[in-house]
Amino acid sequence: MRQIIAFLSKAKRYNKSLTLVIVLLITACSPEPRVLFTVTDTDFSKGYRMHEQQVTIDDMALFHGHLCDGLVVGALAMEQVMKQMYPNEAIDRTNLRVVSAPSPCLTDVAIYLTGGRYQFNTFYVDDNPGGIYIVQRIDDGRTFRVGMKPGVKPSEIDSLGALAVQRKLSPEELDYLKALEDDFTEFLLQSDAVELFDVEALPDFQWQPHLRGDFLKTDVLNK
Ligand SMILES: [Zn+2]
Repeated sequence: MRQIIAFLSKAKRYNKSLTLVIVLLITACSPEPRVLFTVTDTDFSKGYRMHEQQVTIDDMALFHGHLCDGLVVGALAMEQVMKQMYPNEAIDRTNLRVVSAPSPCLTDVAIYLTGGRYQFNTFYVDDNPGGIYIVQRIDDGRTFRVGMKPGVKPSEIDSLGALAVQRKLSPEELDYLKALEDDFTEFLLQSDAVELFDVEALPDFQWQPHLRGDFLKTDVLNK
């Protein structure tokens, strides 16, 4: 970026209109991130809840280790829940607890976006939460479950993914699986997420945390 600015300031001397065109092009090439959340947190270790910030799918990828279809599925699913939970306002990461399906990608999105953590009784993993997440507001108890609609995810990703977990795929087959997942990621990011997920209210949900440490971290098995 520094080089671009230096180049622009030089170009400015020669041709102001050229500079304007280049600036407009750069701006046009930097659209708002597709997945963007506004969250609110406390402002220091013992502070008030007044620290608002924005996080993107790229931030979640840094935390998670890679950008993948699971990360995008989780983020878009959470986006649909938050439309119900915090419509037109920041997600309060001091006021949520979450149950997640066990995938390493989904669980990372869950704790990142809700602030839920196992050690504070605001996060646990369930083999079958009946979808992807169950999210509950602590202050009013409102609870929603979100799941992906049937048929959205290509079945080949699941069948090859199951073989990959058993370490039965060759390097070429792993490359092919990655290409499938990358295509699916792109499809997700281009889609209207309302069409991809079902969100339902769970008025009678019971919070029943349990600690399990034997889930497979499937994204490191072939490392
Ligand atoms: Zn992942």
